Amino acid sequence: MNRRDFLKVSAGLGAMATLQMVGISCSRKGPEGPFSLPGLPYAEDALEPCISAKTISFHYGKHHQGYVDKLNRHISGTPFAKMPLLEIIRETAGKAEHAAVFNNAAQVYNHTFYWNSMTPKGGGKPQGAIAERIDASFGSYDAFAEAFTDAAASRFGSGWAWLVLDGDALTIVGTSNADTPAASGRTPLLTIDVWEHAYYLDYQNRRKAYIEAYLESLVNWDFAEANLA
Ligand code: MN
Repeated sequence: MNRRDFLKVSAGLGAMATLQMVGISCSRKGPEGPFSLPGLPYAEDALEPCISAKTISFHYGKHHQGYVDKLNRHISGTPFAKMPLLEIIRETAGKAEHAAVFNNAAQVYNHTFYWNSMTPKGGGKPQGAIAERIDASFGSYDAFAEAFTDAAASRFGSGWAWLVLDGDALTIVGTSNADTPAASGRTPLLTIDVWEHAYYLDYQNRRKAYIEAYLESLVNWDFAEANLA
């Protein structure tokens, strides 16, 4: 599925359906369970020089694949094996006895969302409907960028920063480890992974430089806008 078709399919369906479409349409069914690694929406070197092919190779091919494999192992022979990904996330969120299933399911979801939140030659100020929503909720693009950067840079340890639709307003949410706003009914529009594995090979300890590169050169505003629908 090319990007235009992906956006066409995703418009009007919202983020949940979007990810299901990505999973169904762009991945091969793995031999070991119901979930498989969704296709990367661009080549591994397509985000260079902001994110290297080496980072994507490990992050997508090892980390994301690892979450898929562990999820399949944990749900094998359980009722979760017959549920869609988002239903597993919502059924297991906040339940200590299901922490391993939640963590791996949420990380599968979060990483798929993250790859689609970026695009080669992306970034910068958005145009159109998403720009109007950002101005309405934050006052200006610059105020949004400052708040998003702060949420991503100040996350202690591993986690994520998100732009979400919460009711009628866009807000910024930070989550720890595998936690995801998708577990609580908010609609994710964009995310950035701030686990060290996302940036350490390219930026070492300079997390803020990675966040700036994401905003200036990578953000997929078409994806964010499609998720508004
Ligand atoms: Mn990651």
